[in-house]
Amino acid sequence: MSRIEGQCLCGAVSVAVNDPPGWVGLCHCDMCKRWSGAVFAAFPASDFALSGPVMEHPSSPVSYRAFCGRCGSHLYMRDDDRAERDFMPGLFAATGDWPLKSEIYTDRALCWARLPGDHKRATEAEYEAKYPSPMGDHA
Ligand SMILES: [Zn+2]
Ligand SMILES: [Zn+2]
Repeated sequence: MSRIEGQCLCGAVSVAVNDPPGWVGLCHCDMCKRWSGAVFAAFPASDFALSGPVMEHPSSPVSYRAFCGRCGSHLYMRDDDRAERDFMPGLFAATGDWPLKSEIYTDRALCWARLPGDHKRATEAEYEAKYPSPMGDHA
């Protein structure tokens, strides 16, 4: 079993994840751009431990986005009906060499955030055809 540990910018929130996937996905939807400043990067994990002042914002009727209550570092996103969290890779030093596996809402990306490579891609229409969202966006 592998385990990685991370923390927020101020160190008040600590997080440990067991058996992380070893890859990262990106989302360029309007909500993720607004929340992340440009592009939301994350990896899914269901076996984790969090401590510290974790705050959750209900960003849609079906999902929450979490941040440190002291420094505001973004921590994860979660859906109501999923045990997994989508953690921000920048919290963990160990994620530096993880490959980019997939990218969604590619047609919504900021012009300089259109990334080369042979990873999987889906436009807004392609993604929402598979995963309809009550928000009409990646909620
Ligand atoms: Zn913090
Ligand atoms: Zn998104």
